Amino acid sequence: MEEVIIIGSGCAGMTAAIYAARASMKPLVFAGAQPGGLLTTTSDVENFPGFPAGINGFDLLWRMREQAQKFGAKIENGSVKSVDFSGEIKKVFTEDGLEFQAKRVIIATGAKPRMTGAKGEAELYGGRGVSACATCDGAFYKGKDVIVVGGGDSACEEALFLTRFASSVKLVHRRDQLRASKIMADRALSNEKITPLWFSVLEEVLQDEEGFCRGVILKNVQTGELYEVACKGVFVAIGHIPSTAPFKGHVDMDEEGYIIPAPGTVVNTSVKNVFVAGDCSDKKYRQAVIAAGMGSMAAIEAEASV
Ligand code: NAP
Repeated sequence: MEEVIIIGSGCAGMTAAIYAARASMKPLVFAGAQPGGLLTTTSDVENFPGFPAGINGFDLLWRMREQAQKFGAKIENGSVKSVDFSGEIKKVFTEDGLEFQAKRVIIATGAKPRMTGAKGEAELYGGRGVSACATCDGAFYKGKDVIVVGGGDSACEEALFLTRFASSVKLVHRRDQLRASKIMADRALSNEKITPLWFSVLEEVLQDEEGFCRGVILKNVQTGELYEVACKGVFVAIGHIPSTAPFKGHVDMDEEGYIIPAPGTVVNTSVKNVFVAGDCSDKKYRQAVIAAGMGSMAAIEAEASV
């Protein structure tokens, strides 16, 4: 039986692994379908402390992985399919049909940005003009025209953040009313750099000869008309999907599937000796440094438990 199983190998999971390994718990980490997590799909990370010149997202996660392994973390490539947290011994079942047991489990499975599925979107995602994180990538669009897709608080926040860098921001929304809170909507709509494009959805992201975004084709959902907008960046902000399906019914979640920390805690779940860290529980900040912080908290709590 393992001392601790960590499910997920992004910033939260790998930081939990570093802390748990240094506490001699020999953590077993399931790397999941995307080893290294979401950050490995972005280009340069410029806001993770300690890297004044920025660091490639993949390199950052690989360093965390090496650091965890140096102290004794074991990393299994593969995904967890289901769990049984009902007994004192926690059971974890993998996609390959194997069963693992542990005294404690840390869930750090992250969340995926919801994407529109428009043509060209996936191809240009991650450094070629399509992003789901203005905080991560906004600074690369200094003096450029960008669009933001979505009408919620995130879309408004992303659009407002982007006005610091971009010369213009078009807010593309499928209705003519924002879902965002009034204060966020008012702020976005009164900003002179932000222009809403109502009743519009993303149909296609167009690329230039070098394979970078040069514009988009939008569709007016009322008239069916297709129209082209020139832009260098497309920020998709239509919500996130937490990767928590294997834990449904086993720990408390909200209606969207985010794991809810036990009252008065940050990383404890509704089940004793099961902890949570990172974006699968944090729908507000979604930052690598916060996921890392939660990972360290989860490992410290795990060490003190049982
Ligand atoms: P959200 O509130 O669910 O909004 C998603 C937006 O994307 C909606 O406007 C929706 O359109 C649109 N959308 C969904 N699927 C789409 C599709 N396939 N194509 C085009 N548009 C699509 O998500 P969120 O903005 O990420 O916010 C999530 C939660 O975090 C909310 O509770 C929010 O209040 C909170 N949050 C708070 C803050 C803050 O307080 N500073 C910041 C960010 C997020 P419809 O409106 O037509 O449904």
